Amino acid sequence: MDEPTSSGIRPLALRTTTESLGEGQSLLLRPQQTERRLLILLLPLFAVACVTGWADVELTGDARWFERYVMLPAAVVFVGLLVWAIRAPARKARHVRVVTLVVGPGVVLVGFGQQLWEFASHGFDETHYFGMSVWLVLSCALYIFLLPSGYAWRFAVAYYLVSVLMLAAFLLYNTAPIPRFVVSEMVMNNLVAPPLFIALLSAFTRLQVEYMKARTHAEDLRELALVDGLTRLPNRRAFGQSFKRARARLRRNKTPLCAMVLDIDHFKRVNDTLGHQVGDEVLVRLATVLTSELRGTDEVFRWGGEEFAVLLDETTSARLPEVGERIRLAVQNARILDDSPITISIGATHVQPQDDEESVFHRADLALYRSKNEGRNRVTVNDKPADFVDFRP
Ligand code: GH3
Ligand code: MG
Ligand code: MG
Repeated sequence: MDEPTSSGIRPLALRTTTESLGEGQSLLLRPQQTERRLLILLLPLFAVACVTGWADVELTGDARWFERYVMLPAAVVFVGLLVWAIRAPARKARHVRVVTLVVGPGVVLVGFGQQLWEFASHGFDETHYFGMSVWLVLSCALYIFLLPSGYAWRFAVAYYLVSVLMLAAFLLYNTAPIPRFVVSEMVMNNLVAPPLFIALLSAFTRLQVEYMKARTHAEDLRELALVDGLTRLPNRRAFGQSFKRARARLRRNKTPLCAMVLDIDHFKRVNDTLGHQVGDEVLVRLATVLTSELRGTDEVFRWGGEEFAVLLDETTSARLPEVGERIRLAVQNARILDDSPITISIGATHVQPQDDEESVFHRADLALYRSKNEGRNRVTVNDKPADFVDFRP
């Protein structure tokens, strides 16, 4: 049990704080999980690419040191990284990524270097000619996909520049005869294609980031529009939307629907004697009591001020007094304030197919007014509008 404070209210951890923390943590974990999934998808592909690259030339007896001593060990490293990515917690995926970004593109650069070296020293060899450009471009893509946007460009460009320097050195100093189509292929695919590809990919990823930001912003706005900032309950506007959905179910499936309006008794006294802040905390606590007391299919709304509304799905009017009484007692027994009892008055009605939001609220409000008039801390059900003369001031 919490200790009472000088104002007589037990300290309450506000729902807003704890809830937003929980959401924040899961939001922080989400990109890490996505990153891990991406690595788990990519690493086996890298390992398979390396093994097939090696096996292809080993079986025909053409294997060179690159396939045996670079590609084959790299395949083993990729399998090791895969096991690491699967077993490590999501927040460690970053380390797997760093090693992947060194080994993966590193293998491609070494392969490119070896090819150029062999051409320069032994001349062009058709059996060993292998288009590296696709791999160089894919390595740039890897940087863009696996690095935060701030680093992606720098790494991709640095990687591109290294390959360009290697190609430039080869073209400048090579004296061995090379077919013209190979030279143009190398220039087109290694000099021109990667920057275009990097630019397109960056634009695409940036667009996606902007889209995600806009979506988060839209969700924030939606929350601001539909959720009450103090109690975190849906507000009156949200009531309108929920009511329409519930009424559609009522019309289509004939599922009974009831509504209640709840008002704190003598709430002004709480504010006047204990202060507005304690009043606010009473509202937050009451919201917690109401949500925990109702079933998951029922919805509680902050109608405004110290008034709340409840939509009770699949509740018949016969059960309404019993449900109302249960809520009233739950609030009374919750002892929201130690020094002064907090009670509520309830007005309830069952919703008819032809009802709209106003007519339902009007009937429930008439019943609430009767509860207030008859001494407060009670439930009144209004199912016979003729009996309810509007005496409200
Ligand atoms: P009754 O039993 O007749 O309902 O008496 P009451 O004192 O509750 O009367 P009334 O409904 O007129 O008073 C509502 C009070 O609720 C007035 C207002 O200052 C207070 N109130 C409304 N919204 C808030 C809020 O967000 N925070 C706090 N602390 N007080 C609020
Ligand atoms: Mg009121
Ligand atoms: Mg009141």
